[in-house]
Formats: sequence, structure tokens, C-alpha cells
Amino acid sequence: MGEWSPAARVRGVGTSIFTEMTELARRTGAVNLGQGVPELASPATLLKDVAEAVLAGNNQYPPATGFPALRTAVAEHQLRRYGLDYRPDGEVLVTTGATEAIAAALLAFCDPGDEVLAFDPCYDAYPAAARLSGATLVGVPLEADGDGFVLNADALRAAVTPRTRVLVLNTPHNPMGKVFTAAELDAIADVCREHSLIVVTDEVYEHLVYDETPHRTIAALPGMRERTLIISSAGKTFNVTGWKIGWICGPAPLVAAAGSVKQFLTYASGTPYQEALARMLGSVEEWAAELRGTLRTNRDLLSDGLKQAGLRPYRAEAGYFLQADVRPWGYTDGVTFCRELPERAGVVAIPTSAFYQGQDAPSWLVRFSFCKREESVRTAVEQLVRAR
Ligand SMILES: *Cc1c(COP(=O)(O)O)cnc(C)c1O
Repeated sequence: MGEWSPAARVRGVGTSIFTEMTELARRTGAVNLGQGVPELASPATLLKDVAEAVLAGNNQYPPATGFPALRTAVAEHQLRRYGLDYRPDGEVLVTTGATEAIAAALLAFCDPGDEVLAFDPCYDAYPAAARLSGATLVGVPLEADGDGFVLNADALRAAVTPRTRVLVLNTPHNPMGKVFTAAELDAIADVCREHSLIVVTDEVYEHLVYDETPHRTIAALPGMRERTLIISSAGKTFNVTGWKIGWICGPAPLVAAAGSVKQFLTYASGTPYQEALARMLGSVEEWAAELRGTLRTNRDLLSDGLKQAGLRPYRAEAGYFLQADVRPWGYTDGVTFCRELPERAGVVAIPTSAFYQGQDAPSWLVRFSFCKREESVRTAVEQLVRAR
């Protein structure tokens, strides 16, 4: 084969710190609190329903917009939880995980040279999808405030330019474990209405909130439904991250635009999973209450353990992740800390700087995940305390 090089839009997208840390965990046998892959059980009825759907022969393409009963179940879920009324036919689209939903949305709305805003740090699929569309992701830093992270509305306003098309919001937030407050969502909505921005809101952790601040969706605020796509997924809610079933809800024209892209990314996927999830989603609240209990226990164990180990954990109100300041151990750089941690304590974590787009990442932050079996978290904590 002759000389070739990858297309400009994928240059620099190569392997990441996640690959390096996962490999390090494998090689050293360290407890892996790096990637957010759950070690927790899924609802037994859901698994049984999938097996039955497969054996019943429901294994061909579903409709491109998704299995109708799942679209109906998603619409009922949004109405029940958020008071938002979406038509299953035209305002709900099933996707190959939230990841495809994000890519389809950004490819549908962004032209080369456009800008996408997201809060920094952010999930790594956002800058990658923006880049595939030819747009640039501009990070607006969340600011440390006590043991949490908060919106700086002035910084958000200042980041809007005539090229800004989309704001990607993620609440509850990965990697910060933050739930955006009502006041923060109001301030974000103000900016979006003022500048006619489309909002893509990633709510895959909508059911995994542990403290007082409830999850709210920005789509429910005045003037926001018409400009917002809500994205969620079964992966985190039911511990089935390998199934890759997600969905988008929004006004018909925006959903149609994302759907036209989605059609040629994957067309459709996961017929038996879609069928089983259609049945499960109606009773998600009971399931989620139990899962929240498990994750809250893990969060508390890890947070207390990190304190005991002499590190400084931040508040994690939701999701799978907890941030810690590693400077008390004499490190100023999370990357070095994470490279040395398997040897020193038999634990793998991810430097939070990997999630920042902007220049001023706090280099001393490290992300630990707690979506693991309780004994994994206990072992990690014991080893961290010993390594202090
Ligand atoms: C895990 C995760 C996703 C990916 O969801 P899939 O349904 O597996 O594609 C999207 N956004 C955030 C914030 C995540 O943490």
C-alpha cells in the first residue's frame, strides 16, 4: 500500500489515556476504578425478556426510528418524570446508545467552522463528534467552589460567538458528579434563548442522583422545549452498557434532522434489547431506587476512604464518579499520580485533565469510579489507606 494518512478530521483522535490505564490495570492486576464500566447486576426480568425475544426470532431490523413500543415507553417516561409531552411517532428516536445520539445531533446541526459549547471538563465523545462535523468544541470551565463545582454564567455568555450553534449540557455530569441546580439551568437557558442556540442535553445519569439536588431537564424551562434534544440511554440505568440502546426526545424538526444522520450511521440496532427495554422502562423507578442505594453506599465508602488516605475528595451528588485532589500526596500532576498509583496502591484511576478541552485544566484532579462491586471499592480503599 502506498503513502496514506488519516483524514484531517480524525488526526489526533488516536488512543487515549483510558486505553493506557485499562492496559495498566490488566498488567498489574490493580483494582480498576478507571473506566466507568459497571460491575453491578441488571434487572433479572430484563435479561430474561431479551433472551426470550432472541429465541422467539425477533432478530431483524427494527424500524429505523426504533421499536414502536420502546418509543411509547420513552414518551411515557418523559411525561411521568418531567411533565414533557413527546409524540412517540416523530418526537422520539431510538439510537445506538447515547454516543450515536450525540454524534447524529452534532453532525445534523454543525457545519465546518461552527462552534459547539460544552462545560469543561466534559465527556470525550463531545469534542470527537464536534470534530467529525468540522466544528470546534469550546470548553467553558466549571469552577471549583468549596467541595463542588459551579457554573460561571458570565464565562458562558462570553464564550458565545456568531459561530456558536449548539450547547451540549450534561446533567448529572460526568466526570464531576455534579447535578446542575435550578438556578444554573435558568442561567444557561437565558443564554440559549438569547442567542438562539440548540441545546443537546445528555441525561444518561438521570436516575442516579444520591443527594438533595434533584435532576431537572432544561427542556422543561420556558421556551426551551422547541430548541432542545434530550438524550438518554439504558446503559447506565440498567447496568447494560454493552447493549448500546439510547434515545433522543425533542421537537419533530430537530429529531428528524438527527434521524436523517442516524439512518446512515447505523440505520437501526438491537431489536431484542429494544423490545425488552420497552417493557422495563415502565417500572424503572423501583429498579433505580435500589441501584441508587447500592451506588450511594459505594460513593460514601470511596469518599470516606479517600479522606482517610489523605487525599481530598470533592462532592459527588450523582453518576459514577468522584473527583479527588491529589496534591496532599505531593503530586501536582494527575497523570503522574495515575501512572504511579497501580504500583503504589494497586488502584487505577483516570487523570481528569483528559476530559478538559481548554488550557486551564486543574492538573491535580483525578477521577475514581464507584460503579463497582462493594468489595472492589473496599479493597481499593484499604490499599489506598495503606499506601498513604
Ligand atoms: C457513558 C456515557 C455515555 C454513553 O452512553 P452509551 O449509551 O453507552 O452510548 C454518554 N454520555 C455520558 C455522560 C456517559 O457517561
